[in-house]
Amino acid sequence: MDEDALKKIVDTFFVCRRDELVEIFGEFLNALDAESSLSPGSSMSRNYETAQANPEIHALPGNLKDARDAVFPYFWGTDEWFSKLHLENVKGPANYASLVGALACLLKNPNLCVDTYSQRSNELEVKAITSLANLVFYHTDAPWGVFTMGGTVSNLYGGRIGIEKVLPNAMAKGVGGGNLVGIVSEAAHYSNATLAGWLGMGTENLLQIPTDENMAMRLDLLADVLEKAYADGKKVAFVIATFGTTDAFGVDDIAGVRRVIREKAAEAGEPPPQLHVDAAVGWVLCFLNEYNAVRNPFELPDEVLAVVREAQERARALEQADSVTLDFHKMGWGHYPSSAFIVNRRDDLRYLTRDKADVPYFSEAEYRHDPALFTLECSRPAIGPYSVMASLNGIGLTGYQMLVAHSLEMAALARNVIGGLDYCKVLNPRSLGPSVVWWVLPKGRNAGEIYRRLIAGTLPEEERLRYWAEIRHLFDKRASDLDRALDARLSFTTSIGFSPHGRPIPAWKAIFFNPRTDREVVERIGMSIEDL
Ligand SMILES: *Cc1c(COP(=O)(O)O)cnc(C)c1O
Repeated sequence: MDEDALKKIVDTFFVCRRDELVEIFGEFLNALDAESSLSPGSSMSRNYETAQANPEIHALPGNLKDARDAVFPYFWGTDEWFSKLHLENVKGPANYASLVGALACLLKNPNLCVDTYSQRSNELEVKAITSLANLVFYHTDAPWGVFTMGGTVSNLYGGRIGIEKVLPNAMAKGVGGGNLVGIVSEAAHYSNATLAGWLGMGTENLLQIPTDENMAMRLDLLADVLEKAYADGKKVAFVIATFGTTDAFGVDDIAGVRRVIREKAAEAGEPPPQLHVDAAVGWVLCFLNEYNAVRNPFELPDEVLAVVREAQERARALEQADSVTLDFHKMGWGHYPSSAFIVNRRDDLRYLTRDKADVPYFSEAEYRHDPALFTLECSRPAIGPYSVMASLNGIGLTGYQMLVAHSLEMAALARNVIGGLDYCKVLNPRSLGPSVVWWVLPKGRNAGEIYRRLIAGTLPEEERLRYWAEIRHLFDKRASDLDRALDARLSFTTSIGFSPHGRPIPAWKAIFFNPRTDREVVERIGMSIEDL
């Protein structure tokens, strides 16, 4: 061994050289500054051709600047979503308190799988989860939970507990026989089909309940489906209700779902399915739980105040959930990955817990402190707790209330601007969230009347297809004409999550998620539609 060369490597890469790190970090920040004058998505085009053809590993040891140079073109070529013109999806800028937390986490790189690897970081996780649990369940005595890789995995936990409840020992024995079903609404996130497939239940056994015009699961049909499933001898492991659908922000009636599943399971003499709530996006409404809608300190306009009041009522029903998924990396404006899976009663984690004999190298483990006894993952990053606690205590409850209220206000303004045009139709006018989905038809068409005929089932198929094509065509036209420096980028969904007479409804979509998006941006959306 060349001791000198080895020492050089250790000194370069395993000794914290503050000046060098600060210098490089400063350079990245300079690049961010320079980029802020560019329009979204315009910094650099991709080069997949050589990404595979010319992979690259330096032959000789270098230094931290080589590390910088290796990633810099991709850093520069990746949009940071800070622009107020980004409205395409549930994707927004992460806040800088979260960055402070995430950087602190990266400097220590704790592993949350067991207490001994993470020390106070697991304690931070307990604190972060309990803070969030108090927000969503409002009153809860024994919540517990973990941060996961994302909403998909958090939902997977909810489904998994359900299976173990109705099929004890399925963890070991498997689920067998197509006898097991799960239920979601038609508007539910596709991650639920992912988990049904991955859990061995089969995607075809995830039964989808049609939604109503507000993109909420129809309780009458839920009751019918449950009755039939039990009559056919099925085990119903879980019902995953959605609190805020991704496109149109439909909110399932959690208390109603609880009532129906309790009744139907009791009639069948079966254990009630796990009631898991996918609140990946919608949980942020809970920040408004204690907003004083009478004093109205933010001077919110009446229509937003009405949304806040209804949100408060809907959010109260979350305490009926057995477990919930909450994505802090969405509207918590935190960094990826910061998804939390939380059970309302810690005791439910026994359905996931493995024997210490199964995890021999954690022989000293105790599940209170060592989540590895029940988590899907073994190694687990600590970004979630660091991002959550840094953000909650940097921005504060009132700060979050203002951010969420601002999103709701911009969404309400957009609904007014778009709803004022005869040839447009807002499809989620009573939504409680930051998303707006709508049709733009050619001028002269009466969009409201077309919608009414669609709902009534009197819109001929041929005519419907023509309108669908027009809506898409106008979207593409705006996208090709827009001024990248001034016009917001919108997205298109082929299904808003409501399918009257079995026909999915396509729409234009904007999500007012970015705190910097202001009135001017919204008003220009209206103008760009009028100019089409
Ligand atoms: C985003 C989302 C998911 C998936 O979460 P990831 O963190 O992207 O894995 C699940 N459900 C809903 C309602 C979502 O909006």
